[in-house]
Parts: sequence; C-alpha cells; structure tokens
Amino acid sequence: MIAIDVEEENKEIVRKYRQLLRRAKPFLKEGDSRLIRKAFNTSMEAHHGMRRKSGEPYIFHPLAVAKICVDEIGLGTTSIVAALLHDVVEDTEWTIPDIERDFGKKIARIIDGLTKISGVFEHGSSQQAENFRKMLLTLSEDVRVILVKLADRLHNMRTLDSMPVNKQYKIASETIFLYAPLAHRLGLYAIKSEMEDLYLRYTENEVYAEIVKKVDITKDVRNRFIKSFIRPLQKELNEHGFDYIIKGRPKSIYSIWNKMKKQNIPVEEVYDLFAIRIIVDTSLENEKAMCWLVYSIVTDYYKPNPDRLRDWISTPKANGYESLHTTVMAKNGQWVEVQIRSKRMDEIAEKGYAAHWKYKDNINSHESGLEQWISKVRDMLEQNDSSALEFVDDFRGNLFHEEVFAFTPKGDLKTLPHGATALDFAFDIHTEVGARCIGAKVNQKLVPINYTLKNGDQVEILTSSKQKPNEDWLRFVVSSKAKAKIKDELKEGKKFIAEEGREIALRKLKQLKIEPTNETFDRLRAYFNVNTQFDLFFKVGQGLIDTKDLKGFKDFKPATPIKSRPSTNISDAKSFEKEIVKLKSNDILLIGEDMDVVDYKLSKCCNPIPGDNVFGYVTVNEGIKIHRTTCPNAPELLANHGHRVVKAKWASQHESSFLSGLKIIGTDRVGLINDVTSIISDELKVNMRSMSIDTDSGIFEGEIMLYVNDTRHLDLLITKLEKVEGVVKVSRFDYNE
Ligand code: MN
Repeated sequence: MIAIDVEEENKEIVRKYRQLLRRAKPFLKEGDSRLIRKAFNTSMEAHHGMRRKSGEPYIFHPLAVAKICVDEIGLGTTSIVAALLHDVVEDTEWTIPDIERDFGKKIARIIDGLTKISGVFEHGSSQQAENFRKMLLTLSEDVRVILVKLADRLHNMRTLDSMPVNKQYKIASETIFLYAPLAHRLGLYAIKSEMEDLYLRYTENEVYAEIVKKVDITKDVRNRFIKSFIRPLQKELNEHGFDYIIKGRPKSIYSIWNKMKKQNIPVEEVYDLFAIRIIVDTSLENEKAMCWLVYSIVTDYYKPNPDRLRDWISTPKANGYESLHTTVMAKNGQWVEVQIRSKRMDEIAEKGYAAHWKYKDNINSHESGLEQWISKVRDMLEQNDSSALEFVDDFRGNLFHEEVFAFTPKGDLKTLPHGATALDFAFDIHTEVGARCIGAKVNQKLVPINYTLKNGDQVEILTSSKQKPNEDWLRFVVSSKAKAKIKDELKEGKKFIAEEGREIALRKLKQLKIEPTNETFDRLRAYFNVNTQFDLFFKVGQGLIDTKDLKGFKDFKPATPIKSRPSTNISDAKSFEKEIVKLKSNDILLIGEDMDVVDYKLSKCCNPIPGDNVFGYVTVNEGIKIHRTTCPNAPELLANHGHRVVKAKWASQHESSFLSGLKIIGTDRVGLINDVTSIISDELKVNMRSMSIDTDSGIFEGEIMLYVNDTRHLDLLITKLEKVEGVVKVSRFDYNE
C-alpha cells in the first residue's frame, strides 16, 4: 500500500486551483473570482474524502474539467463554476435545489443537464441515450451544458488508464459514437481529434502504437521536406510584408488510421501525413483578400490541383469553420495540402463555438451557421416524440456529415446534410411542402423526390394536394427533420386506420355476442399473433385480419389461459441482469470454456477468431454474441447498450476452427489459383469454405472464406500466400456488409 501524503495532496489542490484562477484572470469581472472560490469550496466539501479510480483526490477531476473549459474551449465564469460543480449532484448528497439556492437558477439548470438520470428507462432505450437526450434538452436554454460535458468527457478519456478494460471500451465507444462528432459539429477540432486519437489508443492499442512509432521515425525526413517546401513561400510573404506564421501540421493518428483502413494500405503508403497551414494576422476587413493573395503566392510556386480547392471563407461550414484549402504539387511530385486562414479563423477552427462568440460582435455575416444548427436541434427536440434511442440515432446522423448547399428559386441558401435529397429540401422549406412533394425541378430539369442534391443546385419543389408520405420515404431522406416529420405523418395515418379497425372489430364482436373486454382483446392478440392492441386494430383496419376470421376465434379455446402476454419484442431487462450476474461470478467470459454454462455465438458481422480483441454482448433471443472490438457495430453497441456488454477473452485451449475471410489481389497468371489453393489446403491443411475470383484485364482479385484456429494461424497463412509469385497483397477482409 502506498501511504498518502495528505499535506502534499492539499498543496497540490491549491496549486491546481491557483493555476485555474490565473488562466481565467484576463476575463474575470467584478465578483467573479469570489463566485469561483465559492464553487471550489462547495465542490471540495461535497467530494471530501472521495477518490478517483486512480487514487487521486476526486477534486482533481472538476478542477481539470474547469481548466479545459478555460484553456481549450475559451469559456468564462459561469462555465468554470458549472465545471467545478458538475459531479456534485450526481455523486454526493447535494441536490439541484441546493445548487440553485447557492448559485442561482442558471448554474442549477446547467448542473441538472449534466447530472445523469438514474432509475428506470423506457423499454428499448438505453441509459446513455436517455442521458444524452436530457443533456440536449438543456441545450435549448444554455449551450454551455454541452461544452462542459465535452470538457468532462475529454478529461475522462485522458485519464482512462485507471479504468478496468471493459469500462475503457465502453467509455471510448460512447466517445467516438457521440461526443467526438458533437465536438466536431461545434467546431472544436482540437478536442475532436484528441478524443478520436484516445479512442484508438484504447480500442486498437497495437495499431495505435505502430502508427505513432512510424510517424515518429519519419519525422526528420518530413521536417526537412516541409522546410524546403515553405522556404520560397516565406521569402515571398516577407517581401509582401505579411504578418504570418507557417506550421507543418501532422495529421491525427486517427485520420491516418482511417485512411489506412479505407484504402487498405500500410502507414508507409499514407503520403499526406501532414498539412501546411499559413496563418495571416490581418484586419477583419482585409482577411478575405489577404487569404486569396497568399493563395496566389502559393500557386505561383506550386501547381494546384483544381479539383481540390475548397473555399470555406466565402461559404463557411455550418459549424463555423472558415479556411481556404488547396492541394498543390511539390517539386518532388508529392501532393501537399495547404490551408490558408486568418488568425481569427484559426482560433475559431481550433476552439470552435466559444471563440466564435468572442468575435460575434464584429461580424454579422458569419454568425449564422452555429445559431442555425442550435435552433435546428431545438426544433428536433420539440418535434420528436420517438424513443430516446431513435432520437440519438437521428441526431447523430445529422452530426456526421459534411453539408451540401442548395438554393431556392429565389436564391436563398439552404444548408442540408450531405446526401440530402429533393425531399429533404422540401421538408426543410415546410412540413406541408414536404408531405405533398411529388418531385422537383433542379436547375430547370425535372427530377424524382429521391434525387440527391449537389452543391449549388437550384431547387424548385413540385407539390400535389393528393400526395401522401409512405414508408418508402424514410429511405429517401437523411435529415432528421424530414425523418421525424415523415414518421409523424405515418403515425397519424396509422392512428386513423387503427381507429377504423377498432370500430370494425367492436361491431363484429357485438354481432358475435362476445364481450369486448381487455381479456377478449388479449385472447384476440394471441389468436392472431400480434403484439399490441394497436397492431391488432391496425391490421383489422388495413384488412390484413378479416373480420370473418373472428368467427373462428369464437370457437377457439387457448391451451393455457393467457394473461396479458408480454409482447415478444420487449427486451426483458431483468433476464439480462440475470445473465450478467451469472457471468460475474467468474468475472470474464472465457470463450471456449464457458460454453456449457452460457449460450453464446460468434457474431457474423465481424467473424471474430481467437487472438482478436473481443467482447460479449447479451442479446434478447440469441444468448451472448461475441464481437471484435473493431467491429463496425461495436461503438454503437457499447455506447447505447453498455449494460449488456460483458468482458470476454479467448480461453487458451481451443480445438475448434473459426471462419475467416481473406482477400487476395495480384496479377493473373496461369496456375496462380492452383498455387494459392495448394498452400491453403495441402501445405497448411486449412479447410476452405468458399472461394470467389474475379479477373479483369490481368488483375486478379479473390475472396476466400476459410477455417483457421486463431490470428496467429491466419497471419502465417497471409505471409505464405504473399510469397506466391504474382500475389501483390493478402489481407483479412474484416466485415461482412
Ligand atoms: Mn465528471
């Protein structure tokens, strides 16, 4: 045991507190520091004696979160106070009314938004989703609730080391699933990137370490290259009397990893590991002209790729991002991305939302993007009566994408999520326009409702009073507003049909002299095998259940009396709990050993094999499913249904073999297939399940499904196959689409 030096700890607390005050000092107003002191004292007292998993005094955490708010998001006193108090209500005896009494309504509302809901959730929902929705509800009143939450999450990610591994996965997954996209949406690029990198570090540790190492090894070469690349630019910029800085910015580990995955290439082949950024210090009126002047200087020396020019200055991104991007050819034939922006733009790009507000007074034309987004979120929250999980899904869908810009016939600009269709556009104008939309004219040409918009399209929506939304429409839209509206309309239509169905059913029951009691309806549900009374009436209304069949029902006697049968799709939370408790006795699910005790399956979406990092997920009907931690479904499962996730590990002894897939690319030659298959079946005695091969003008591409023992076995196979003459690349194809 380590002895705790209380005196030293207290000194450290004071040091951290003073540091926070120092950082905040430049913008503190009269009375602010007293308020911060009060919040600090309250937090100290409330968390007294509590420690974090790492063993540190708990107060370190709220202090760190407050510091992130100041340093990295640029927030002020209210947020510092909220950050200091953010865990008080959740973890201690303190209540929201206590906070309101001592710190006022505004702070109390923020803290309430940050405090997790405990207790029961609507079925099919998840704690994470409910809490997230609750937090967003407070956003309507105060955006700072989200900014403090992001600071909280960032600090938790930075200190993830002291958490048990399964918690690490869960927290990291939530972060990549919701918080990193949210940070991105709010323009907090630095925080978003750090969250993504940390996610990778905790879920794909080896890959992460490898990329870090390789990026580090090539650092000197890269720096030399950057130096010679910028030398002529510096000279020219100096001659023009620019006040500027140039940075050679390395790409984030996560974005390198994404590129490797997308293009299926090793780190060495990711050539654009960095971007050049030129930041000019200039007055607000001149910044646009100055940026274009810099562009002109850059392209005097290096040929630009005309397809890669991005002007986010004339049309800023919806999250407030402004910058001029171009990709130019360096003297050695390598493409280099150059980002040109003013100091103000740079600060907004790094710190996002809060920095944006700092400049708000000066600027009218640029402020709209974020404001618009926040009012959109408000709309979504007001309209949306779907479950929290559905809501989070919709919301997230709206976070991710880049935007597409389109114009109304009068030239008003509409910003919609990337992939938006004419139908999305119609719903963005008005619900009624959306619901009656039959098509559109895009740049004078007639297009169907599912036409995907392109930047700069001018869209005129065509409507008909006879038009009605149908289920298919949900596949044609990407914006959450359109989705929610279509769902509402469909629900309205369904209600109407169900109401009709109810009347038909009641009439028929009367004819047959059956009492229309709840018990009758329960029996009817069982007889026709439907889950809810609503579904029953809906089906009658639709004519899918014929009233004539009710006669048959009259004579029907169920084998066992039916007590309001629980519908099959309700997930029974209690039985999950039981499953998990059962597992807790041995703490970790050992795949291969616990087979008799627990019912589990290897999931088909990612085909895990021994050696892969895996986790178990308790499903409703199919026992426990084993997924790889890199499975594309993993972030969602862990984020939304973390309570169903169990730790899992491969038992060391296993005789079974596991299905896995290999992709082979090479140049075709006679006998190649034979060589490949003979290595697989003869030399390594591996069983193949299937093999499909495509050859196209001399290029050979094959996919082989085979049974292997573990990752080591698979790696051996890959190495052997790569030695076959003509084979260029062999890789595991990870996921079934
Ligand atoms: Mn916290």
